[in-house]
Amino acid sequence: MFDAIVIDKDDDGQRVTVKPVAFPELTDGDVAVDVAWTTLNYKDALAITGSSPVVRSFPMVPGIDFAGVVAESRHPDYVPGDRVVLNGWGVGEKHWGGLARRAQVKGDWLVALPAGISLRQAMAIGTAGYTAMLCLMALEAQGLPPEAGEVVVTGASGGVGSVATALLAARGYRVAAVTGRREEADYLGRLGAATIVDRAELSDKARPLNKERWAGAVDVVGGTVLSNVLSMMKYRGVVAACGLAGGMDLPTSVAPFILRGVTLRGVDSVMCPKPERSVAWQRLAEELDMRLLESMVTEVPFERVPETAPLFLEGKVRGRMIVPLSPD
Ligand code: NAP
Repeated sequence: MFDAIVIDKDDDGQRVTVKPVAFPELTDGDVAVDVAWTTLNYKDALAITGSSPVVRSFPMVPGIDFAGVVAESRHPDYVPGDRVVLNGWGVGEKHWGGLARRAQVKGDWLVALPAGISLRQAMAIGTAGYTAMLCLMALEAQGLPPEAGEVVVTGASGGVGSVATALLAARGYRVAAVTGRREEADYLGRLGAATIVDRAELSDKARPLNKERWAGAVDVVGGTVLSNVLSMMKYRGVVAACGLAGGMDLPTSVAPFILRGVTLRGVDSVMCPKPERSVAWQRLAEELDMRLLESMVTEVPFERVPETAPLFLEGKVRGRMIVPLSPD
């Protein structure tokens, strides 16, 4: 038995408790991991609050990511003592996840943690930071150099936005950070943002085209904010879209695509192929300023996860929330 956060659902609704559990008999995982650190991501908040149908079967242990040490392995690539990280693959949605002292997952889903990065740092990055790197890689894959012009990051004070701001600035891009929280301007400046944009500027219904402003974009918000960003992209600008913090819809027109040659590139971290993940984690270890990363982190005690999750949906989370389990 091991302690876990468990989501149960019945006719009376959804309940979240911290309690000892044992893995179901038919778990298909071939590697058992002692979880050292896990995190709270936006999707974990959706699962824990039940505000979106993220969880597909009950009881479910949420937690879409974790970092830890291999305890037992039947997978050829891993032996006990290996330091590993997991992001996505339906863990915390369809398979028991990282908000537990023990996880049992397919070895094919794990990434060996690059040298020079601690288990705590791995989860300070977490799925949000790994997705931010996938967004940077997407902009680069579309051929966007730093000289092309300013790159706008929406939802900049949140997890993906904070890491994206720091990564882009470190890479030499000039970053415009969009935030609904003016009080976070100094924080965003320390991460490397050159310009702060008030979210209100992007909140009205977008015109098909607007004054050309940005060469690139990392969008975590979707909805009206993304449609405004699209309308303000420079000729042949590139937008990496990964989130829906502001809505699922996209009220736009074809104008940015057919008149300005704008590229809208979707970014998915959950099923991203393993070679790309390994590159992302290696680059995070090499390119992310770990002192800046530390400035993004808030530690949340395991027992307080259920009451903390709603803060994501209220847009009140700054940077990254990490949860110690068996800390290194
Ligand atoms: P987060 O820490 O809660 O950050 C989201 C940020 O968006 C907030 O801090 C806020 O930033 C802004 N925001 C919140 N509500 C908003 C609203 N109603 N309208 C406009 N802006 C709003 O969440 P996260 O972990 O960074 O994740 C961000 C999004 O990316 C989520 O939708 C998540 O599901 C998605 N995501 C997707 C993938 C993928 O694989 N595609 C991976 C990771 C995350 P400001 O206060 O600074 O404006």
